[in-house]
Order: sequence, then structure tokens, then C-alpha cells
Amino acid sequence: MNPQALRQRFAGQVHLPGEPGYDENRRSLNPAVDARPAAVVEAASATDVRTALVTARALQVPFSVQATGHGTHAANDGGILLRTSGLAAALVDPDRRIARVGPGTRWRAVLVAAAPFGLAPLSGSSPDVGVTGYTLGGGVGWLGRRYGFAADSVVRAEVVTADGRVVTASADRHPDLFWALRGGGGNFGVVTALEFRLHPVARVFAGAAYFAADRAAETLAWYRDWAATAPDELSTAALLRRMPDSPDVPEAVRGRRVLMIKSMYAGDADQARCLLRPLWNAAGPVLHEELATTRYADAAMGGTAARYLNLFPALPDPVLRALAGAHEDGLASTVEIRHWGGAMAAPAAGAGPVGHRDMPFSVIVDALVPALEAALRPYGSGGSFLNFLADPGRTASAYTPENLRRLRSVKAAYDPDNVFQVGHNITPNVITPDVHPAARVAAR
Ligand SMILES: Cc1cc2nc3c(=O)[nH]c(=O)nc-3n(C[C@H](O)[C@H](O)[C@H](O)COP(=O)(O)OP(=O)(O)OC[C@H]3O[C@@H](n4cnc5c(N)ncnc54)[C@H](O)[C@@H]3O)c2cc1C
Repeated sequence: MNPQALRQRFAGQVHLPGEPGYDENRRSLNPAVDARPAAVVEAASATDVRTALVTARALQVPFSVQATGHGTHAANDGGILLRTSGLAAALVDPDRRIARVGPGTRWRAVLVAAAPFGLAPLSGSSPDVGVTGYTLGGGVGWLGRRYGFAADSVVRAEVVTADGRVVTASADRHPDLFWALRGGGGNFGVVTALEFRLHPVARVFAGAAYFAADRAAETLAWYRDWAATAPDELSTAALLRRMPDSPDVPEAVRGRRVLMIKSMYAGDADQARCLLRPLWNAAGPVLHEELATTRYADAAMGGTAARYLNLFPALPDPVLRALAGAHEDGLASTVEIRHWGGAMAAPAAGAGPVGHRDMPFSVIVDALVPALEAALRPYGSGGSFLNFLADPGRTASAYTPENLRRLRSVKAAYDPDNVFQVGHNITPNVITPDVHPAARVAAR
């Protein structure tokens, strides 16, 4: 197709190789992905979304979607890369406690729109992450133990499916698609609008406290046992961190190896302090503390880049000793143990395929350390969480075998030719090799 004809199809801008806007728009935030698509299309409407998909299929080239580039782990080379960042609207209905967003919306916009009504979305550690990509991948945030995964709060999605249909997925319309979207990632269609529940959380008690890391294995064992008693309103993570020797870092912990407890309590400060006190006593004395009552929208909790990610049904002492040892030896500069469970482990009937809900702990390490991986292997479940998974080759590990089977059947029904395959791919369980992908596009 010549460039002129391609441009005439879209209301939004089209960037082709060699043109000024091409490099800027083809990039993701992942330095390992250097995509060279044949065209980057900036969607100006839901119609542009459908046109981009239909065009990619007609040209028999790869198709992929990018809102912010925070979760792009595979390159679209030679295909059409659809950018949705221009479709960034967040509407809040305070009476129904529902938000509706466009596909390019970032969490910050929802936080800002919901806060005046004392409502909160189930956002994660960064307000710059895209709402749709985050939610389709499950979405775990600091209110997760109280209200579940972000995917669990979705009530409706408008979707362009692989055959170019525009459908609404909800509990009673395309229920299989609705199920798969709530954790199955970008495998089932391009979402052009998402509606989800907001929750009545205006203020939280949140932040981090820092302790010396010299008794790390012992303190982590304490944390493990204490976490089993924590109420669902309280979410925590225990980290071993080597703090930078930089003037931005508080003096008391600057350049030190620390054990850090991050927490968020959806309730009042005194109750939170009372719940946390035994843990502080075990880990203490506190070197530095940044806990405060704040608007949920302002709580900045940060995240850890995962080079190693595993889920654990329990954290026996050898696991904690191995983690503490790897940190002490300087093999990893951040080790994060996160406490899951609560509402995430108690889904409502019909909830989506997100995560391994019965796993109470995840371990994330910011370095690949073969000796550590070998030491942890007998204890980890081998499972993962889609949003924290950098390696698309491990996509199957994000699901239980039963959910993976059902996801592959839904994929066969909605995307039998595996059009949505750039990134974390779930393959259809029935492949139709004789039918050309373009042949299935609904002609318009
Ligand atoms: C700094 C940072 C903090 C993070 N914190 C958390 C956290 O606390 N909890 C958590 O769960 N995750 C977290 N993540 C992971 C994040 O949720 C995923 O990387 C997510 O995929 C990002 O979505 P995006 O739209 O911003 O990224 P993009 O790279 O723009 O999109 C990622 C993928 O999402 C899919 N997608 C995006 N838009 C659509 C659409 N409209 N229709 C269909 N598919 C679509 C596509 O498959 C696309 O490849 C974090 C990531 C970063 C970088």
C-alpha cells in the first residue's frame, strides 16, 4: 500500500520509516525492544483502531498495540504498531462508583478524577502505567488484598476482535471473552473502552520504614509469620536493598544495606501502627521512616524491576537464608518479598484467569543469579504474574493449567489465527493453517 493511501484511511497520524516522527513513536520504554514497524499509527478514534487492525490483516503483517510502552516486551518488526496514547479520557460516575477510560489512559488521570469523590481505582506502583494494559494483565496494587486484582473490578469492555467486529464484553455479553480479558493480556482483541469499579478509599496510611539488614534472614522469617496474621486492609512487602550513596537518599540509610518494609493500610494511622508494631519490634530499631497518612492518589510506593520472579506457597527458612545470603554477598541489590492473598485469593464467582490466586508470596530479584535460582527452585511454584513477567516465553507460567486450557479455547474462538501474538502470547488450541488470516477480516 502506498503511503498516501495508508494515510487517507486514518484520522490519526501515520509515521513511516525515515519520517521525523517515526523514531519517537515506534519506541517503547523497554531498551531491549527496538521495534521497526512498517508503520506507526496514532489512533484518533475507535474507528482508527479497527482500521489499523483490518489493514494489518489485509497486508498480512504483524499487529500490536502500545499505550505507554511500559509493558512492551516484544518487537513489532515490519507490521502496524497502533499507538493509543491519544485516546486518554477518564470519566468517573460517583453514584455508580464506576470509571470509564479510553485505551490510552494512564492511572494518574483516573486517580485525579476519582479522588474528589473519595474513590480509588486499583492502580499499582506507578501512576504513569497504562490502565488498560495493566488491567488486562491482572493488575496488582496496594489495595489488592482488600479489593482484589484490578481485573476483578472490570465490569465492561468494548473490544475490536481479530475479525474486525466491535463487541461489548460483560458478564452477560460475550461472557467467555469477558472472562479471558480479565487477566489474559492483549491476546483477545483491542480494548477501546474499559469500565471498572472504584472503591471507597480516600486516605491511606502508607510508606516505607528502614531497618538494618544484618539479621535479614531472621527478620524475614518473622515477617513471613506475621504476614499470615495481617488483615486484608494491610498490604506489605519486605525488601532487602542496597541504598544508593546519593544526597537524595536520607542520611540515616545512605549507602547502607537495609531491610525495608513497605506498607499501605486502608484505614486509620493508629490502627496501622498497632498492627505493624510487632514487626517493627522484631526488625528494629527503625533507621528511617516515611510512613504517613496521605490521599490514596498521592501514595508513591515504587516497584522493583523483576529479573527473577517466582511465586511461593510458603517461605521456609532455607529460602530466606538464600535470599539474605545473595543480598549480603552483593549478587543482587534488591530482593522483594511481597505478601499477596486476601481478596485476591477469594475471587467472586466468574472471576477471570488472573494469577495464581492461592500463592501468598512472590519473590522478585533484580538480578539473574544462577546459584540463587537453583537454591530457590525446590520451593518456588514456578508460577508468575503476567504484569511482572519480562520474558514472553514464560507466558504459560502466569496461569493455572485449567485457566490456560480455557484461555486457549477462548483464543481459538476469538482469534483462531493468532493475530494478537506480539508480546505475551496465548496460542489458540485449534490452529487453522489453511485459512489465510486476511480471509477472516469482516469486509467493510
Ligand atoms: C514502573 C512500572 C510499574 C509497574 N507497576 C505495576 C504494578 O504495581 N502492578 C502491576 O500489576 N503491574 C505493574 N507494572 C506492569 C504493567 O502493568 C504492565 O507492564 C502493563 O502491560 C503496562 O501496560 P501499558 O499500557 O502501560 O504498557 P504498553 O507497553 O503500552 O502495553 C503493554 C501491553 O498491554 C496490552 N495492551 C495495551 N493496551 C491495550 C489495548 N487497548 N487493548 C489490548 N491490549 C492492550 C498489549 O498486549 C501491550 O503489548 C508496572 C510496570 C512499570 C514499568
